[in-house]
Amino acid sequence: MTLQEKDSQYLWHPYTQHKTSQTPIAISRGEGALLWDENNKEYIDAIASWWVNPFGHSNKFIADAIYKQLTTLEHVLFGGFTHEPAIKVAERLMKILPKNQQKIFFSDNGSTAVEVAIKVALQYFFNKGEKRTTIIAFENAFHGDTFAAMAASGISFYTQAFQGMFIDVIRIPVPVKGQEEVSYDALKEVIQNHNCAGFIFEPLVQGAAGMVMYEPESLAKLIQICNKNKVLTIADEVMTGFGKTGKTFAMDYVDADPDMICLSKALTGGTIPMAITTFTQEVFDAFYDDDINKALFHGHTFTANPTGCAAALASIDLLQTDEMQTNIDRINKSHLGFQKKIENHPKVITARTLGVIFAVEIKSDSEESYYGSMRTKLYNFFIENGVVLRPVGNIVYILPPYIMTDEQLQKVYATIEAAIEMV
Ligand SMILES: *Cc1c(COP(=O)(O)O)cnc(C)c1O
Repeated sequence: MTLQEKDSQYLWHPYTQHKTSQTPIAISRGEGALLWDENNKEYIDAIASWWVNPFGHSNKFIADAIYKQLTTLEHVLFGGFTHEPAIKVAERLMKILPKNQQKIFFSDNGSTAVEVAIKVALQYFFNKGEKRTTIIAFENAFHGDTFAAMAASGISFYTQAFQGMFIDVIRIPVPVKGQEEVSYDALKEVIQNHNCAGFIFEPLVQGAAGMVMYEPESLAKLIQICNKNKVLTIADEVMTGFGKTGKTFAMDYVDADPDMICLSKALTGGTIPMAITTFTQEVFDAFYDDDINKALFHGHTFTANPTGCAAALASIDLLQTDEMQTNIDRINKSHLGFQKKIENHPKVITARTLGVIFAVEIKSDSEESYYGSMRTKLYNFFIENGVVLRPVGNIVYILPPYIMTDEQLQKVYATIEAAIEMV
């Protein structure tokens, strides 16, 4: 049996309708920005394997750090115990996070980082004896697939089977160009008419919605409105964190600090699943009490896994090298050049760039759905041409590993241009 045949016998893949989907490609190795399948066909990984892998596949520096940790202390329970790798991750993050972030809580993936933030927002008010049960989120947001994270997500594919079973979430429009006032007014209206505990948002870029971008000034305004009304703010930096937007965190562009930040994806350079939610001292203090019932009764067995922590420390080391910062700037300039080249193409609606993130919206005759026919055509064309890109409907985005070479980038651009001509 081939790997594909065995796969279809045993495995259930994410976001996949197995009856109509194509067989998955069996990847056998990766190096830098490249992947090879079992037949040795080469692919450029232009989306950093779902945005997790900024430093390239099979990175030796991170692998060595992981090996060293695995052979020193691979894991120990975090209830009642602590260890140096976790403390070091906290110390490193404190130095680079917005100054008001003082406490960090470990979990396993982006969804759990969000789950923890939402539960903390709700329990914060419970602990203070205040009834606040509504969470505010953006339209078309994506915050993950566990229940509270899914409730905060506004993309119907992910949530429609579970309508009516969610915590109370109210959506406001994203302050994209021309919609800023509409967004501010909607937020004020929701806060006035509901008992709002928190506002969760993807700062500056909504990833899964198709790299929808909005300005830092607008986000600062929304956060200020929340601050005035004592609504806790949650920056979901699971996608944007660790250099993707050109700064370490998207919040570094914003003139207002959130109460909580969610991190995962690039945190460990795409190696060990790990996530972190960070908090202000003020949020932590609402749980600090003689009464045990006010504690945060949330935890995961693998919380603060030392091996994951070692991977995170090595990743932060890499991110902070001059070489990596130069790479980020190089890719950004390259993207801006490509944007200029194609934004006036008759088949292009718009193109946009922030940091290493680039997106282009392609004109289509019909209303394009998330997994519509144009998406399939584009996806197949990219795969045939040895480029891993996962369009969102008619939106093609690039989120390359920072170590992608200029030559590889040019090939990705050329393939996208050819795809635009093809559809
Ligand atoms: C990917 C993502 C999540 C969910 O992370 P998982 O690790 O897939 O659970 C949450 N929020 C944002 C912004 C994301 O991009």
